[in-house]
Amino acid sequence: MSIGMMKRRVVVLGATGSIGGSTMRVARALPEKIEIVGLSGRQNKALLLDLAREFPSAALCAGEELSAAWLSSRLGGRPVRHGDQGLLNLAAISEADLVLVAIVGTAGLKPALRALECGKDLAVASKEILVMAGEEVMAVASRTGSRILPVDSEHNAIFQCLEGRDPSTVKRLILTCSGGPFRNSSEADLLNVTPEQALRHPTWAMGRKISIDSATLFNKGLEMIEAKWLFGIPMEKIDVVIHPQSIIHSMVEFIDGSIMAQMSSTDMALPVQFALTYPERHEGPCVPLDLAALGRLDFQAPRTDLFPALDLARRAGSAGGTLPAVLNAANEAAVEDFLNGRCSFPQIWENVARAMDQVPFVEHPSLEQLIEADLAARTYLKRR
Ligand code: NDP
Ligand code: MG
Repeated sequence: MSIGMMKRRVVVLGATGSIGGSTMRVARALPEKIEIVGLSGRQNKALLLDLAREFPSAALCAGEELSAAWLSSRLGGRPVRHGDQGLLNLAAISEADLVLVAIVGTAGLKPALRALECGKDLAVASKEILVMAGEEVMAVASRTGSRILPVDSEHNAIFQCLEGRDPSTVKRLILTCSGGPFRNSSEADLLNVTPEQALRHPTWAMGRKISIDSATLFNKGLEMIEAKWLFGIPMEKIDVVIHPQSIIHSMVEFIDGSIMAQMSSTDMALPVQFALTYPERHEGPCVPLDLAALGRLDFQAPRTDLFPALDLARRAGSAGGTLPAVLNAANEAAVEDFLNGRCSFPQIWENVARAMDQVPFVEHPSLEQLIEADLAARTYLKRR
């Protein structure tokens, strides 16, 4: 297909969230390139109603049956799916070429696999699904010929730096990390961190779960494992550098010593747009960078002594098997506990480490065994 001809028909799972919002900005800016053919939300039915009116031909999925009925009655009887089955159906509709999964946590895994099984391209924002079942997701994609397009800004940056290059010439991937709000805190400070403080990210405005993950550095840990699967690169070739300005979104170092970096403003619209219009580039909603106004870019080594998340993730990613799924599920549960005042900030990584030690390890798990390991980690933390 020639440049300028493509129009991608997109289903957005998690349309009412933060990534969903960035996606809507891209879709509004590029109506001749992107057609929204499906939308899902869970609790925020008022926003889903607005989006349904804005995109009158989109298929819809709400969280609960009652919300689906509420929406349908306000949309002249337009059909509205609901729940897990509704999401699976929406991921498979024949009108779509591409499914963007932007559901927080692992709830997006089955719909993502469903989209791939139907031969649709998959844009992945939900890093948790690659952490939990990266091997399975990549295997299904290679079987059906579907493309996996990373939306997470780091992976989107690496995807851009790698475009068309021989993977055997890659020396390492360098993920940049803002360091989160406690980059310069002491061990004693971390004990008393409140959810309000942890939710205040210095450079990005995001959903609650990923904001806490950014504060513990589990976000970067999850991203290391995500990178391993997306790019087929072993864990030992994946490094992290703290870069407080979040302008360089990640880098690739090649064997000759050259480092390619991707830079843009801290706006998820850009990686969303690149994933949805790939391989084309278009003028979109992202504000250009003013490098002179920025003045400087800083880098420092991560403080792995204070933030054990990176080492835990490296261990999980290297061991493989069920360990990444356990790390991911334990983290999801611990973040929820922290947000509800049931555990302290450092207990997030203490709980994750404990679950990784205690939940039985399976080296070559089936999808069912991964789901069991996920559940076992959550149950283990609940019982304690
Ligand atoms: P939000 O919490 O803002 O949004 C999550 C979306 O998923 C909402 O639409 C929500 O619906 C829906 N949802 C939540 N739980 C379920 C469920 N169990 N079943 C169905 N739908 C559900 O999250 P973000 O947009 O911040 O993040 C989404 C994903 O993208 C995460 O995996 C995150 O790690 C990743 N990501 C996010 C970035 C960001 O900048 N925000 C950057 C890179 C990656 P509702 O709100 O209606 O209840
Ligand atoms: Mg990221």
